[in-house]
Amino acid sequence: MDEHAQDGRENDKDDVMKALQYVEVGKPPVIREVPTPEPGPGQVRLKATAAGACHSDSFVMSLSDEDYRASYPLPMTLGHEGAGIVYSPRFLVPLGDLDPADNVALTDAGLTPHHAIKGSLSKLVPGSTAVVIGTGGLGHVAIQILRELTPATVIALDVADEKLALAKEVGAHHAFLSNPDAVDAIREATGSATVTAIFDFVGIQPTADLGAKLSGTETDQVLVGVGATKADVGVLGRAYDATVRAPYWGSRSELMEVLNLARAGRVDVETERFSLDDAPEAYRRLHEGTLRGRAVVTP
Ligand code: NAD
Ligand code: ZN
Repeated sequence: MDEHAQDGRENDKDDVMKALQYVEVGKPPVIREVPTPEPGPGQVRLKATAAGACHSDSFVMSLSDEDYRASYPLPMTLGHEGAGIVYSPRFLVPLGDLDPADNVALTDAGLTPHHAIKGSLSKLVPGSTAVVIGTGGLGHVAIQILRELTPATVIALDVADEKLALAKEVGAHHAFLSNPDAVDAIREATGSATVTAIFDFVGIQPTADLGAKLSGTETDQVLVGVGATKADVGVLGRAYDATVRAPYWGSRSELMEVLNLARAGRVDVETERFSLDDAPEAYRRLHEGTLRGRAVVTP
């Protein structure tokens, strides 16, 4: 054991590590230097503290060349019976070359709609319609994610003309004022008074009621806006197989997906920057409803 073995940070600087690998069929496994793996979505990197030598390893290494190659990769790192310490910063996701101020909002204004939309993805097939109510910080990113991940017709509803203009700029096919007349406007635009999914980024009773009006058979009404609203549910309360759900934020692996969308130039947060001293002004503008996209404070 070398003197750095207790100090994970020493090894962290290295981009190679040791591994016991089966390299050549029929030959004993050997210790090799391999690139330190980077965890992908849904993965963590473990600093292995122990691994059992299971007989299955032995069995696999006794297979003939033909049988082995039919089922397993070469080289293969051994140690499937392992324990270790989570060696990547568990809840952090590297920004890489993304600008922090331009992209920080993705951790919430991007991740939350991404998670909400993924829950309805299987329904958003060609010919489907998605309604986004409230096209502010979260909503204007939701429109972009819907356009990127689905072939759905995207309809934006908001109470401010500037927000509707932004919604169109970022990809909404239609944008209408959010009021009871929106049902007629949607019927005219799509030929149907009900839609496939409603993503409500306001979450007040009038928007929940509007969403309920737009709900038909199998419609998902997704209440993302924070609040408590009342809705009729049940076989007699709503069209068959319709759902109402209230998703919360998203997972770390979904955040990685969102950052990858940004890296590919598929999602872009409209940001207005404020200094720390001007942060109260950012919140005033948020309250006033006059921000374009997201306010970002840079200390
Ligand atoms: P925001 O202020 O940036 O955007 C809200 C938008 O809604 C604005 O464009 C505003 O004009 C519009 N709006 C207001 N009243 C409306 C109405 N009656 N009909 C249609 N549009 C209307 O807010 P945000 O930061 O995007 O947050 C949106 C909501 O999502 C908030 O309620 C927030 O608390 C919530 N939120 C929930 C989660 C979660 O995990 N569930 C996470 C983050 C934010
Ligand atoms: Zn938030």
